[in-house]
Amino acid sequence: MDKKTLSFQAEVQQILHLVTHSLYSNKEIFLRELVSNASDACDKLRFEALDKPALWEDQPNLDVRVWFDAEKKTITIRDNGIGMSADEAVAHLGTIAKSGTREFLGKLEADKKKDANLIGQFGVGFYSGFIVADRMTVETRRAGAAAAEGVRWSSTGSGDFEVETIERAERGTDVVLHLREGEEEFLSAWKLKSIIAKYSDHLNLPVLMRKQTWDDEKKEQVETDEWEPANKAQALWTRAKSDITDAEYQEFYKQISYDSEAPLAYTHNRVEGRTEYTQLLYVPKKAPFDLWNRDKRGGVKLYVKRVFIMDDAEALMPVYLRFVKGVIDSADLPLNVSRELLQESRDVKAIREGSTKKVLSMLEDVAENQKDTYAEFWAQFGNVLKEGIGEDFANRERLAKLFRFASTHADSGVSFADYVGRMKEGQDAIYVITADSLAAAKASPQLEIFRKKGIEVLLLVDRVDEWMLSHLYEFEGHTLTSVAKGAVDLGKLQDEDEKKQAEAAAEAAKPLIERLKKTLAERTKDVRATTRLVDSPACIVADEGDMSAHLARMLKAAGQDAPRARPILEINADHALVKKLDSAESAERFDDLANILLDQAVLAEGGVLEDPAAYVRRVNALLVG
Ligand code: ADP
Ligand code: MG
Repeated sequence: MDKKTLSFQAEVQQILHLVTHSLYSNKEIFLRELVSNASDACDKLRFEALDKPALWEDQPNLDVRVWFDAEKKTITIRDNGIGMSADEAVAHLGTIAKSGTREFLGKLEADKKKDANLIGQFGVGFYSGFIVADRMTVETRRAGAAAAEGVRWSSTGSGDFEVETIERAERGTDVVLHLREGEEEFLSAWKLKSIIAKYSDHLNLPVLMRKQTWDDEKKEQVETDEWEPANKAQALWTRAKSDITDAEYQEFYKQISYDSEAPLAYTHNRVEGRTEYTQLLYVPKKAPFDLWNRDKRGGVKLYVKRVFIMDDAEALMPVYLRFVKGVIDSADLPLNVSRELLQESRDVKAIREGSTKKVLSMLEDVAENQKDTYAEFWAQFGNVLKEGIGEDFANRERLAKLFRFASTHADSGVSFADYVGRMKEGQDAIYVITADSLAAAKASPQLEIFRKKGIEVLLLVDRVDEWMLSHLYEFEGHTLTSVAKGAVDLGKLQDEDEKKQAEAAAEAAKPLIERLKKTLAERTKDVRATTRLVDSPACIVADEGDMSAHLARMLKAAGQDAPRARPILEINADHALVKKLDSAESAERFDDLANILLDQAVLAEGGVLEDPAAYVRRVNALLVG
């Protein structure tokens, strides 16, 4: 192929512009990114060579070499991994924008620290080279390809890049950084070594640099031809737990997660038995930008006998634990395990179950012993964990115990167990209400009787809560009962006097209720007296089998068809407004008052009126008259 000049894809151009103009702190991460690409390339070679041993080309020792040239002001990162064909170089280094690109741009623009560290999170690490270089040259040859099929890629990091075919005997890739003016500090063996040790100690691959010796004549350190490792190159998870410090665990977490914060918790175990594997799993402190993308995986990397196999192994972790990061290294799986095989393997199933249990016990431990930390976790990941109720039948009980809610007793942090512990004498059900916000839930008229009697109600105000309720019916034998659905039956919680009083009031209200039913026939399914109201004249509730008004609104907002069943109007027969209805002087006035009663009940519940103008007209008529 003759030399060709191609344009970077538009989003890549934006990234490059930001990278070269606005990243100031943590510049050194360019080396971590390029070494990590070299390591990925070696992992890929190991993996592809399982089926095609010829790819080894009689060169089985994989390593990365890093050196610099003080005169030319270059740094080179060389690997003997998989390499790239010309098409791959064009696609991967210039024309295909990654899925995280857009988020990266947004985050970068918003970040005040201009922290280069951000770059690794979004799969655009290669371009970090341009933080310190005003020209990057990549020379590469794909494993198994002829020497004549080498490729040179080069760019100044502005609008376009060049590619051409070259002769290249060595398998793998050289990335050469031509440093910008002012970045000479990186032309130092000591500096490069310390960056490698900082970020790349746990790579499962040696990163080599030239050995230095003291030259007596020159009175300075000079380089020899001998190469020596600059990193430990021992996979952390293979070491004994007792030999690993907390700092090492944390550093490893940062390497695999690109998170700049320490993890919330971690667990490291060697599991023996029917299937043998090692797990090192972390729960992050902060949710990543794409937490809500259920298709995005990659938190847990699968290794087989220390050979990296894949990092999108969805078979390893349930979707609702997609925030977990870490490594699983199996001793039993075949090295050439395919995605399809992973789905079916009994060993993988056992690993997944074991790992899920470990994560849950890690969370239980935090919930038990570090309440504040758990509250932070819940704020970040609680809604994802709730998905587990519908996904993971086997762990439903354990999951439910980990849930925390707001209630009429506390604005956050209430567990089902706390709730049950506070249940009133004679109370069987766990009462809940769903709403759009905490304020709306608290203001709901349906809570009045519960407040009066001091009965706690859980306030469920997250979008997933309605969905959760459709999968979680009970906790330790106590039914979850929505106070906005069906007739309220306080059962044993009401004393005999109250019951008698309520019955009498309902009896007395019968004629009124019949009139209301006729007047509001088009807008309601039923009208009945209730004991649930104390201060409000009326409220609406959904019929037992119907969708709650809150859920119907949510579906509608999401663009879905929600067959809105007519609500049931419940009236407080003791209320002055209701009594006033009874004495309305004309049929017309009764009609107005009845509709106002219903409209107000809809508004109080957070709903929207179908005919707000009619409501205003009626209220005005009342105010004037
Ligand atoms: P990521 O590593 O997250 O995929 P990068 O921007 O770091 O994103 O790299 C982009 C792509 O370029 C890689 O996915 C890989 O296909 C290719 N690449 C980069 N460096 C190398 C290398 N040393 N050897 C082979 N391929 C490489
Ligand atoms: Mg990378």
